[in-house]
Amino acid sequence: MLPFDRSLVVAGGGPAGFMAAITAAEQGVAGVLLLEATPQALGKVLISGGGRCNVTHACWDPKALVGHYPRGGKALRGPFNRFATGDTLAWFAQRGLELVEEPDGRLFPRSNRSSSVAQLLETAAATAGVTLWRGASLRAVEALGEGGFALQLRLTADAAGRGQERLRCARLLLATGGHPSGRYLAGQLGHGVVAPVPSLFTLALEANPLAQLSGVVMDPVELELVLAERRFRQRGPALITHWGLSGPATLRLTAFAARALKEEDYRAELRIDWSGGRSVAELEAACATARREQAKRQLANWRPWPELSRRLWLHLLASHQVNQEKRWADLSRLEQQRLVVALRASRYAVSGRGPFGEEFVTAGGVALGEVNFATMESRRHPGLYFAGELLDVDGVTGGFNFQHCWSSGWLAGSAIAAAAASI
Ligand SMILES: Cc1cc2nc3c(=O)[nH]c(=O)nc-3n(C[C@H](O)[C@H](O)[C@H](O)COP(=O)(O)OP(=O)(O)OC[C@H]3O[C@@H](n4cnc5c(N)ncnc54)[C@H](O)[C@@H]3O)c2cc1C
Repeated sequence: MLPFDRSLVVAGGGPAGFMAAITAAEQGVAGVLLLEATPQALGKVLISGGGRCNVTHACWDPKALVGHYPRGGKALRGPFNRFATGDTLAWFAQRGLELVEEPDGRLFPRSNRSSSVAQLLETAAATAGVTLWRGASLRAVEALGEGGFALQLRLTADAAGRGQERLRCARLLLATGGHPSGRYLAGQLGHGVVAPVPSLFTLALEANPLAQLSGVVMDPVELELVLAERRFRQRGPALITHWGLSGPATLRLTAFAARALKEEDYRAELRIDWSGGRSVAELEAACATARREQAKRQLANWRPWPELSRRLWLHLLASHQVNQEKRWADLSRLEQQRLVVALRASRYAVSGRGPFGEEFVTAGGVALGEVNFATMESRRHPGLYFAGELLDVDGVTGGFNFQHCWSSGWLAGSAIAAAAASI
């Protein structure tokens, strides 16, 4: 009798679990079983990127790539030196899926459909000999003294005829994403877990003074979040919404400030430099030019620089008690000073998180110190591996979260294959 039912069980049919299972099977591991708790594998891939799946980001240098991970960037240096953006492109291209770069660096499948990515992964898994059980969730795990793991599954009625609820496997990979079950299982096996907090969210402003400007995009703005002990800064496009602020710079800001914001119960001061970093001297010079060359025009009809949204300009005039019907020639020095301050450092009170982010990811998860990032293997239990969002790693919006899944999944699958071959 074989000591194990399976050489490898992968729990979690998301991008990280698929990448690991495919890699291990393609590199020679026989009998790989992939468990997906829900009836639909790759559910997040399907809804990702607004249905288009932002597979990765055109950031080719591993050293630069790690800078896009508020948590886990340092640990990812090694993995990205072995499998990074270029490898992801090649991996998908070898299996027939071309990725196309957008002007902001995000990479999407040429079809612009996330279903192409999901289909490719399912086909590659089946071709490599991976067995996928849908509706099969891993409920409990016990590390066996002699090596390997005893697993207890729960099978939905649909899956019950195809699988068994108790299994023994030589190796186990946990890739359960942000779902609490994976953190519970890792905890059962003695791993430390960093408490999850949301990352990548929009900001609600108290009595949102910008509500009338909903839909205005300013690019770039400089955002500074001032908390009791720390400050966070980001520069980039921001979108004004009816509850506050969204857009890439806001999401990046909240990703880096996720834990600090949670500690302050999402209350902070937000300073916005609407001028995109223009100095006081530059703004004063722009006003002087307007006074000289547009002397007879009303303030409402001439903005200090053309890319400044007219709606925002009118709002700043009104909120800083400057009459918009005044002619540029009549703008007083005091009023000009007020406008320069408004353009460079408007202050708003943050009252909480906005209703949704672009990419929902969880900050927190399996503590990184107990994982060997050369192999993604647990330092506590030989034969136990981790990949993807379950780890205390998260990236900013733009394809970085999937890149971490591809890298950690590939690394784990390769390490498992190497370990299995060495027996
Ligand atoms: C709306 C939305 C859009 C996004 N868009 C993008 C994007 O365009 N680009 C990007 O980089 N990132 C995006 N993200 C983030 C990205 O989806 C995640 O970072 C990524 O899916 C994490 O992959 P994973 O394999 O670690 O986990 P998941 O994708 O969460 O997969 C884990 C799987 O494990 C299953 N599972 C959980 N517990 C068990 C168990 N006990 N037994 C068996 N199975 C279990 C779950 O059902 C799930 O299918 C988006 C997220 C959301 C919510």
